Amino acid sequence: MKWERLLSVPIFSVLLMIGFMYYVTVFFFIADWVGLQSSAGSINVIAFTLLICYFLFSFFACVLTDPGHVPSSYVPDVEGGEVSDQESRRPAVQQRKCETCLNYKPPRCHHCRVCRRCVLKMDHHCIWTNNCIGYWNYKAFFMLVLSATLGSIYSTVIIITSAVQRDWESPGWASNKIYYVVCGIYMSCLSLVLGTLLGRHIFLLFHNMTTIESYEATRGAWLARKSGLTYRHPYDLGFYKNITLVLGPNILKWFWPTAVGHLKYGTSFRMIPNTS
Ligand SMILES: [Zn+2]
Ligand SMILES: [Zn+2]
Repeated sequence: MKWERLLSVPIFSVLLMIGFMYYVTVFFFIADWVGLQSSAGSINVIAFTLLICYFLFSFFACVLTDPGHVPSSYVPDVEGGEVSDQESRRPAVQQRKCETCLNYKPPRCHHCRVCRRCVLKMDHHCIWTNNCIGYWNYKAFFMLVLSATLGSIYSTVIIITSAVQRDWESPGWASNKIYYVVCGIYMSCLSLVLGTLLGRHIFLLFHNMTTIESYEATRGAWLARKSGLTYRHPYDLGFYKNITLVLGPNILKWFWPTAVGHLKYGTSFRMIPNTS
């Protein structure tokens, strides 16, 4: 079932785009710049290949990992006391029912119209991975964006470095100018788009916020301002704690996309006191 997710046009597009980026960077720009046989060329090829492999690992982990189903046994805690994993303490946010699935929704869970089901700690539905980004695959998604950004910046730097060292007046090179310009513009734009996306998700990671919650926070902050109050995101437990909740407590496993042993049930979350 999950392997069927791979059969989608956006996934083929991503793989095609990465394949193109890898091919032109290695066999065109690094080869032209220092040559593939030189030590500088070999080091750059190895580093870039590892980065692309890391991207592919994160990408497939994100595509093939289920973001999180609501357990059929899930019942909200009407008393407001401790629930299954003894972390949630507030009844108000727990008594939400999905109008489509007709089941209770845990806190931070949302219904995805594309997947036609409720997803735990839903961030957004990503067409490029043909999957929802939620509780179990957000870490892989974050590493996917991080590695894609680093890969495109790496490629852009190599294109620019290679271009400035070229003697464009020498015979034969003038015709190559168009490849450098087109690829340079393409990779620069891709770096900018991915860098912006990465910056946004670093902000969300630091504040323990999902994309959906960031929209709710904007509205919440506006309403609070109107009432002369200050808005506080209820799950923002502090910079370091927020990072460890997603990446894990062990810093050595922070950058391993599938190291999610620290995650529990995804049906309840610790909140800061005195927020609603
Ligand atoms: Zn639902
Ligand atoms: Zn979805």
